[in-house]
Amino acid sequence: MKKIAIIGAGFAGLATAYFLLKEGNVSVTIFEADRIGGGASGVCSGLLHPYPGLSARRSFKAEEALAVTKQLIRIAEEHTPKVVATQTGILRKSMNLDQRERLLQHCSHWGDVEQIEHDLFVIHSGITVLSENYLEGLSAALIKRGAEIIFQKVSSLNELESYDHIVVAAGYGVREFPECQQLKIKFLKGQSLKLEGKPPVEKSLISQGYIAHIGSSSCFELGSTYEKEFIDERPQIDLARELLKEKLAFCSGAKIVQCKAGVRVAAQGHYVPLIEKIAPNAHVFTGLGSRGLLYHGLYGKALSNKILFE
Ligand SMILES: Cc1cc2nc3c(=O)[nH]c(=O)nc-3n(C[C@H](O)[C@H](O)[C@H](O)COP(=O)(O)OP(=O)(O)OC[C@H]3O[C@@H](n4cnc5c(N)ncnc54)[C@H](O)[C@@H]3O)c2cc1C
Repeated sequence: MKKIAIIGAGFAGLATAYFLLKEGNVSVTIFEADRIGGGASGVCSGLLHPYPGLSARRSFKAEEALAVTKQLIRIAEEHTPKVVATQTGILRKSMNLDQRERLLQHCSHWGDVEQIEHDLFVIHSGITVLSENYLEGLSAALIKRGAEIIFQKVSSLNELESYDHIVVAAGYGVREFPECQQLKIKFLKGQSLKLEGKPPVEKSLISQGYIAHIGSSSCFELGSTYEKEFIDERPQIDLARELLKEKLAFCSGAKIVQCKAGVRVAAQGHYVPLIEKIAPNAHVFTGLGSRGLLYHGLYGKALSNKILFE
């Protein structure tokens, strides 16, 4: 039986663990420095749909990626009594003519987008995932299938030499591993605000920023900042409030109750995650950027196949 160590219990690490345990005769140990979802995954606002970003282009392998994430959502739902996701669509307001044109093309070409006002569309395939509940359900499913989760920081791959294979799925933590220094990645801090009050729209909405419904009629999340320069990954509520002030104006009457922050790791030059061999028995899986929910399952499955069958 192959012994596999995974560093990081975020979307990337948990999805890889799931497919390794499903497809292979393996033992999986996940090392987590903080808590499950201790990095960006734990603060993810949960928007999952195929048309992210300013250009609103349909993402690479969108259909396959959505299908795999939905499979993982179902698994998580079976392992927690909490609500894991609301599959009621996501509103998208076009911010310029190009975006509007592209969304109109999606309406006729893909059929999962519908124009409901001049510049307002609904992405019917859009899902809002309650990230913490999703992580809770998925990790419970992994433990049931025999995974071990050890809450301990890994400082060097040498600490894991008793394992046959290592997966570094450490999010922002990859910067600390010498084996990952050559990766073409960049870091972008994101902060979002949790607001108490009635959400100003009836479903999650993406416009210049976004409003994410988080499973309650009395609070919602407003995001997000995209900070290239930052001192550390911790929340800075005053800065977040300042950077999000125009979006806050749209939510009059709602009160800020929490500021969440995390660092997105994005690949340079493209929008798909990075899976690279960094040592004879180790891969890194990172670079999920703002598309973590869309791609963690598809790429986690691909990495698992690489480890088991190549
Ligand atoms: C504010 C914000 C909002 C977002 N909203 C969305 C959204 O709506 N939709 C979407 O699809 N994406 C969103 N994202 C992006 C998404 O959260 C990320 O793409 C995704 O979480 C990355 O997952 P990951 O597993 O690669 O990294 P992480 O979630 O960061 O996981 C890495 C884990 O590794 C652990 N770790 C690090 N170093 C070590 C070490 N040395 N030893 C052991 N453990 C270690 C960390 O504690 C962490 O738990 C958002 C991001 C932010 C910051």
